[in-house]
Amino acid sequence: MRLVRTPGEMAETVQAWKRKGFTVGFAPTMGALHAGHLSLIRRARRESERVVVSVFVNPLQFGPHEDYLRYPRPFYQDRHLCETAHVDALFRPSPEAMVPEECVTSVTVEGLSELLCGGARPGHFKGVATVVLKLLHLIQPDRAYFGEKDFQQVVIIERMAADLNLQVEIVRCPTVRERDGLALSSRNAYLSPGQRSQARLVYQALRLAEELASRKGAGVEGILRAARRVVAKIPKVRIDYLRIVQAHTLQDAQALRGELRVVAAVWMGQTRLIDNIALKCKN
Ligand code: AMP
Repeated sequence: MRLVRTPGEMAETVQAWKRKGFTVGFAPTMGALHAGHLSLIRRARRESERVVVSVFVNPLQFGPHEDYLRYPRPFYQDRHLCETAHVDALFRPSPEAMVPEECVTSVTVEGLSELLCGGARPGHFKGVATVVLKLLHLIQPDRAYFGEKDFQQVVIIERMAADLNLQVEIVRCPTVRERDGLALSSRNAYLSPGQRSQARLVYQALRLAEELASRKGAGVEGILRAARRVVAKIPKVRIDYLRIVQAHTLQDAQALRGELRVVAAVWMGQTRLIDNIALKCKN
């Protein structure tokens, strides 16, 4: 596995592969890799001849009072996991190289970025989209892999790729969960053992919503009330949002019809957890 540290070397590495006719799969990450990330990497490994993983804690996507500095960075462990997963190139640029101070160009996916997580984290998706676009531009992958765990993110990246005619297939990968249903996340490491065992209630609330939505005659508000009651069992929890939204526009669903998603963001102490699942409606 090649460890690549500069944007220039990354571009050259991929160009050399492309001259030989290899297809390239790419999984962007912020590191602290877990089985969720590995599911993306394994899929890329199956579907492409060369695989690039980036580990970059993107400063542009963190607000001034967020966890940029304390975000976990177990790089040797990440490198080992990538080696074991037969990654061809691990791209780990410095923040200075990736987003130099003089950089003033950004990309905003309007209409989607302000909703849901964008409400509590203004500027977050502008930071995500800008850096993902830079990475896609450097690496020029045939396919790029994103987890449905970050549902709004994958919707925004798909919109950006379509709007800007990017020649990349955005591949959605299902959420990988712990045994009790908690979605794997690098931020789960922040939870105390007590919080960790309560955190399963977030997924249980989503599953309850899914079950209620599948019943004839169910209504959006009734389902959300029931789901919120489940989350409210977590001591000192703060619900940022728990909504049923249309899967493409992320706008609130007025009725249980079409392609819908139940999405949640909750604060447990200093830790913000997000999760979502698809709804199968009967109506
Ligand atoms: P992150 O390192 O948190 O920025 O995540 C990098 C990529 O891994 C994103 O596309 C995430 O959606 C994806 N990812 C994170 N957690 C999971 C999970 N539990 N299951 C599937 N994909 C995930």
